[in-house]
Amino acid sequence: MTAKIIDGKAFAATVRAKVATHVTRLKQDHGVTPGLAVVLVGDDPASQIYVRSKGKMTAEVGMASFEHRLDAETSEADLLALIEKLNADSAVHGILVQLPLPDHLNSDLVINAINPAKDVDGFHISNVGLLGTGQKSMVPCTPLGALMMLRDHLGNLAGLEAVVIGRSNIVGKPMAQLLLNDSCTVTICHSKTNDLQAVVRRADIVIAAVGRPEMVPGDWIKPGATVIDVGINRVPNGEKTKLVGDCDFASCVEVAGAITPVPGGVGPMTIACLLANTVTACCRANGWAEPQGLTA
Ligand code: NDP
Repeated sequence: MTAKIIDGKAFAATVRAKVATHVTRLKQDHGVTPGLAVVLVGDDPASQIYVRSKGKMTAEVGMASFEHRLDAETSEADLLALIEKLNADSAVHGILVQLPLPDHLNSDLVINAINPAKDVDGFHISNVGLLGTGQKSMVPCTPLGALMMLRDHLGNLAGLEAVVIGRSNIVGKPMAQLLLNDSCTVTICHSKTNDLQAVVRRADIVIAAVGRPEMVPGDWIKPGATVIDVGINRVPNGEKTKLVGDCDFASCVEVAGAITPVPGGVGPMTIACLLANTVTACCRANGWAEPQGLTA
């Protein structure tokens, strides 16, 4: 069996096109342009690439993009003051603080300083609680993108066995929560899980969010399972480097029913969902009807 390749790049392009249509409508009907502020502290090369690409795509869908690049030595007080300013700025509907932050800054404190209504990453403790209790919230972009691909491929997820490898606050835990909210039977694995292979083997849906290159081989996968590879790992490739996921694509593709590639799978969906969340935040802030069908 050779798996269907779930094309995240194409899927994300359709989501961005819908976002662009909504942005045009908001401008025409209300004279309002949804705005996304991205805050980058320090000069982490991967973060710089993400922030550049977020800024480019924000502009492409017609939204306003506000970039704030701060020195690696920026004090917590200065960062919190900027967030306060963005919270109060009516042109800013979404605020994203690029993680990881330098060690001297307390990420929890910083994220929880963002107005939850503008927390388009869905990391604020209020949004985590709302998601955990099945209430309307801002949903973290990477798990949201993964859920959209799963629903698109599988339809109703109720009753399926889902195994999430990784328990981070930004991917593993919210992913598991979303799958539970969709009535999957969910198992969360981590570095202390006994016999990971046996747990993964029983899954109809495997979500790999570990950060270990090609850790999951094809013989761990139940034939026909759907594999969502969240991992982004840079590995040597001759004199250059290349990106690989947490799953060994070559062997998993022979066993799975469907699989997301790396690159071109979950990654593009993450940014598309960020843009969609910003439009949603703009509508909620103004009391307008939320766009239907933009996200899951
Ligand atoms: P973290 O490092 O925060 O979490 C990794 C998780 O994997 C931890 O829960 C850890 O367990 C678990 N883990 C580590 N080793 C093993 C092992 N041998 N067996 C089982 N579990 C293990 O990573 P993130 O969640 O932030 O990111 C995960 C991956 O997803 C990374 O490659 C990252 O680059 C990528 N990513 C991709 C995004 C996208 O847009 N596509 C967005 C965000 C992340 P424990 O808790 O016990 O330490």
